[in-house]
Amino acid sequence: MRGALSEIGEALLDLVFPPRCAACGEAPARASPFCSTCDGAIEPAPDLGDGVGAASLFGGPIADAVHALKYGGRAEVAGPLGRWMAGRVAVPEGMAVVWVPLGRRRRIERTYDQAMLLAVAVARASRQPLLRGALRRVRETPPQVGRDRAARARNVAGAFAASRAVAGRDICLVDDVVTTGATVEAATRALRDAGARRVVVAALSRAE
Ligand SMILES: [Zn+2]
Repeated sequence: MRGALSEIGEALLDLVFPPRCAACGEAPARASPFCSTCDGAIEPAPDLGDGVGAASLFGGPIADAVHALKYGGRAEVAGPLGRWMAGRVAVPEGMAVVWVPLGRRRRIERTYDQAMLLAVAVARASRQPLLRGALRRVRETPPQVGRDRAARARNVAGAFAASRAVAGRDICLVDDVVTTGATVEAATRALRDAGARRVVVAALSRAE
């Protein structure tokens, strides 16, 4: 009941104060986190059938939205983006939702973990349980940007550890952008090492 009331409250707030587009930050968002112009410019991700479901191909308005979320302090776009993701990447029934966490230092700098906010919204929209703190980054890693595939894999190898909360469970691993997949592969390995049965990845976007 409380959930239903808060959803009604959010819908009323959206009517009175229409949220701004997650990408351009200007025009009001309509049925999606985006204004109609940005919405029309988003490219779907090709289905590569490799266990990574992505809601979009990285670039254009999606790159702007990710930038706003990660570097522009616009934490409020995470909820609409996560709901939008859940509508485009079907999370199979019976999955527990986990996210690719930031390291402690970066989370303190940014004041929030954007993948966690996406995961909260994905779990809520797909009505699957969220496993908080089941995956943690045990080592801070320098940004992956500018590294080739092999260097990215080395950079994140052993960077994650998962708790026994994932043992025997099917896991939906949420991240914002998947590029070469090195980060989600390292996180998947940690989840499997802790006994996760199956891991599927749900990303807001993928770069290739
Ligand atoms: Zn826009």
